[in-house]
Amino acid sequence: MDNNLIIEILELGPFFVNCYIVGDPESKQGFIIDPGFDAERIIEMTERHSLAIDSIIITHGHADHIVAIDELKKHFKARVFIGEKDAIMLTDSEANLSTMSGESFSGDPADGLLREGDIVKAGRYEFKVLDTPGHSPGSISLYGHGVVFTGDALFLGSIGRTDFPGCDHETLLEAIHTKLLVLPEDTIVYAGHGPDTTIGQERDYNPFLS
Ligand SMILES: [Zn+2]
Repeated sequence: MDNNLIIEILELGPFFVNCYIVGDPESKQGFIIDPGFDAERIIEMTERHSLAIDSIIITHGHADHIVAIDELKKHFKARVFIGEKDAIMLTDSEANLSTMSGESFSGDPADGLLREGDIVKAGRYEFKVLDTPGHSPGSISLYGHGVVFTGDALFLGSIGRTDFPGCDHETLLEAIHTKLLVLPEDTIVYAGHGPDTTIGQERDYNPFLS
């Protein structure tokens, strides 16, 4: 990992989603990944690094990853990006599963859609979009500078749930094997929930992948 790259992790909300703040300490440009809850804490952390946030990247559209979007969008005047097939989840409380938890949530549509190979930038740092569907139809991961943000596709010792509508277990396994496990083994995995891990660790020890 590039030592200068800023990566801050905030564990937010009742589902303990990992929100990431990624920034370039020189240009002070950055983006936010999966603002699940608690916009205030996210804003505070960006201020600690004096980061200007121009985009909010959503790894997938389940409610626990998106609830603070609207507040942050207003605060930063940032644009929101999500995988094409998950775009509907931003505006549809059935699709983002929030109706299941009893607190319906829906917000504005995406400002842009992400596809395999697209580039997301934090100043001079570029990250490549990988399609990693299965936990949801439009789940994406972001890879670059020795790290990969995997959303709810891959966790330390586990993989994403596939018992929700729109999930598919075989699709998820294929995505993990063909898009994530092929990355260098020392790549740090920053997952949507729980502690970080590495590609090598998951390739060798993840019980769902053997
Ligand atoms: Zn999810």
